[in-house]
Amino acid sequence: MQIAVLPGDGIGKEVTAQAVRVLQTVLGKDAEFTEGLIGRAAVKAAGKPLPDETFELAKRCDAILFGAVGGPGDESGPRNLRPGLGLLTLRRELKLYANFRPAFLFPELIGASSLKPELVEGLDLMILRELNGDIYYGEPRGISVGADGRRQGVNTMRYSEPEIERIAHTGFKAARKRKKKLCSVDKANVLETMQLWRETVATVGKQYPDVELRHLFVDAACMELLRSPRQFDVIVAPNMFGDILSDAAAMLTGSIGMLPSASVGEGSKGLYEPVHGSAPDIEGRNIANPLAAILSAAMLLRFSFSRENEAATIERAVRSVLAAGYRTADILQPGTKNLGTTAMGDAVVAALQRA
Ligand code: NAD
Repeated sequence: MQIAVLPGDGIGKEVTAQAVRVLQTVLGKDAEFTEGLIGRAAVKAAGKPLPDETFELAKRCDAILFGAVGGPGDESGPRNLRPGLGLLTLRRELKLYANFRPAFLFPELIGASSLKPELVEGLDLMILRELNGDIYYGEPRGISVGADGRRQGVNTMRYSEPEIERIAHTGFKAARKRKKKLCSVDKANVLETMQLWRETVATVGKQYPDVELRHLFVDAACMELLRSPRQFDVIVAPNMFGDILSDAAAMLTGSIGMLPSASVGEGSKGLYEPVHGSAPDIEGRNIANPLAAILSAAMLLRFSFSRENEAATIERAVRSVLAAGYRTADILQPGTKNLGTTAMGDAVVAALQRA
């Protein structure tokens, strides 16, 4: 198994190191890890956010374990040097269009959720975010000077029917394996692109009569997610709305440091990363929660290598560590023990060695 490790920036480096240790513990000599530069670290060392060497590594490997990219002030720099462009290019060039973001509440963290226990107990939903289209990639884009001499910014929300169809199929198939409920999120009341999204999802839905399909406008979806999240099973959303909804869902599970993700396409290759960013505010302090990265490693085993047993073993190890009362600062509760990033990694590795 060839695994590319792209830690990136900030806490990306800290949490990815723990995920690699976990994979090494589970896989032993079955896996070979090769590290590459991406993001700010790559701009500094190689002059661009996705060096050719890193791109070749990502293409060659079976799976990519990714940390996070970015840092303060990126938004004002030239677009071709933005760290986030490295990640966007990888997702697009490798055609990883389906981003699975499970929002699962470990029962041990019920007190850390932003909602009352009775609203989130048993929460287990899947947000499926389209990853290759939408306003993130649409042209034209840019900042130009208008006729009045003042600047104007333009971005284009664009989706083609085939792009919507393929993510809709992924959503229906995912729902079929769960509680057979799919909620499609759009803004069809205002945006034509989203009208096409809704119509296309509804048409694809006719091929899945066993799955209950519901449509929600994104504002209503946000409200419902925070009011009564257990009504959802699988949520399928365009790129931008999926990004926002999954960060909101993270708060229900206790912390953004708990949310893993898997980005996949047609083949078995995938990119696995925590949903959180590089968190410059806590970088270098050994306090970042590594569990989202570790749970992303479990998704890597499940999605790219069909190693369900090992994936489930990692998830059980995480659960046992939480049950033993170990926490990082973001999920600390009265009566629990505050561990740093490395010590939390140690605890998961120790639980795996006992398993
Ligand atoms: P962020 O996710 O980095 O941080 C948001 C908040 O959550 C911060 O208070 C941070 O300390 C906390 N947090 C995040 N991960 C945590 C963890 N594992 N443990 C404990 N606390 C954690 O989002 P942001 O602050 O909006 O962005 C910071 C940088 O990350 C920006 O440059 C942004 O562009 C980038 N970013 C990158 C990705 C990615 O690489 N996929 C995703 C989101 C943001």
